[in-house]
Amino acid sequence: MPLMTGRQYLESIRNLDLCAHMMGRSVMGASQSPLALPSARAVALTYDLAHAPETRDLLTASSPLTGGAVNRFTHLHRSTDDLVKKVLMQRACGGLTGCCFQRCVGMDAGNAVFAATYACDKARGTGYHGRFLDYWTRVQAEDLTVDGAMTDPKGDRGKRPKDQPDPDQYLRVVGRKPGGIVVRGAKLHQTGMLNAHEILVMPTMSMRQGEEDWAVSFAVPTNAEGLVHIFGRQSSDTRKLELSFDAGNPVYGGQEVMTVFDDVFVPDERVFLNGEVEFSGMLVELFASYHRQSYGGCKTGVGDVLIGAAALAARMNGVENASHVKDKLTEMIHLNETMFACGVACSHLGRPTAAGNYAVDTLLANVTKQNVTRFPFEMARLAIDIAGGLVGTMPSSADLSDDEAGPLIRKYLAAAPGFATEERMKVLRLIENITTGAGAVAYLVESMHGAGPPQAQRIMIARQGGLAEKIERVKKLVGI
Ligand code: SF4
Ligand code: FE
Repeated sequence: MPLMTGRQYLESIRNLDLCAHMMGRSVMGASQSPLALPSARAVALTYDLAHAPETRDLLTASSPLTGGAVNRFTHLHRSTDDLVKKVLMQRACGGLTGCCFQRCVGMDAGNAVFAATYACDKARGTGYHGRFLDYWTRVQAEDLTVDGAMTDPKGDRGKRPKDQPDPDQYLRVVGRKPGGIVVRGAKLHQTGMLNAHEILVMPTMSMRQGEEDWAVSFAVPTNAEGLVHIFGRQSSDTRKLELSFDAGNPVYGGQEVMTVFDDVFVPDERVFLNGEVEFSGMLVELFASYHRQSYGGCKTGVGDVLIGAAALAARMNGVENASHVKDKLTEMIHLNETMFACGVACSHLGRPTAAGNYAVDTLLANVTKQNVTRFPFEMARLAIDIAGGLVGTMPSSADLSDDEAGPLIRKYLAAAPGFATEERMKVLRLIENITTGAGAVAYLVESMHGAGPPQAQRIMIARQGGLAEKIERVKKLVGI
């Protein structure tokens, strides 16, 4: 089956006719809502770029499962070169959309489940890997978008899953029937859920003996019976309804959803972990590392847009040659390239898993994401600094059409020669979008918490940092 185009993808999503709760209403065909459409367009671009001559090499890969070309967003990485290309692809997509394009979580989940099911089968004689291969072959052949779902609500964070007053705070198996299992729980922060065909669920953390019901991985279609999708709000999201440049990013956007699994039946052939607690940690760690690598690509792509917008705003303000402005732009570039360098480095130092796909270097993937929890915030600060206070105080674009206000806005918000006031306002709105508006959900909040909060990376960095070995080196060097 040939790879889908963006238009075919959008049609496939429309045909799913997903229902979601949005702003107090239950909406059929929720992915077609003006609130969600910008995010669908961002995913659609990942399909179109696979056909465009200049990006085809980056956006496609050869798969032994299908024997043909697949979209890289469904690819099981076969080399460190594949891992590097993944980061380059994400930077390209971020730079073209200026937002989260949502399709990475499925790719990262697919690679993690591929490796973990293989390891589980080897150790326990289970039959998950073959099932997963069948499933993923279909994902690749049909060029599907998959939502990789990990984050549980977690209730009382001080208690293990089985000790929670409400055991559904961690998604779990509540029933075993002939031919399948019944699951209950919720997944929060689901990036692009309404734009996905499939959900690939993983445990939210490493489970222990006695927590078998929570050690579960499986896949269901996004329109499976028993799923309830609740659309997440974003700052200034209703500006998308105005269809004006006040939205900041006039074409693209991101999407986050809370999805509840209200006793959903999962047939055996879609179950990839069911009680093997010792492999839940491996699965979580693999996914987290892949996704921490991802941020070294996508956030730098959005960073490219923010740097460009800050530079253009400086030019429009007539201050592009001021030395402090040049220095701030240089600092933004330095921060952005540092995140990118880490993403590329953890890819180059990747290694094959026993299953045959390639995993990233865990320590450097965690360093990548730790930087991502900080640098976009500093870059946002510098962009707002350069752009000026108008980022937060500008009148509505609708006032430009007013007989009285329009000419006054054009006169008093005039830009440097060569630029129209309206052009200046568009650039400032984009900076507003990324730093404090709807785009800041992905650029800032997700940079902090996506793929785990900063502390999760610090735990891994401490664990992988080789402190004992470093002490031994010193002892040897000084003769202790
Ligand atoms: Fe991909 Fe980045 Fe969006 Fe995560 S935040 S899905 S890595 S674009
Ligand atoms: Fe994410």
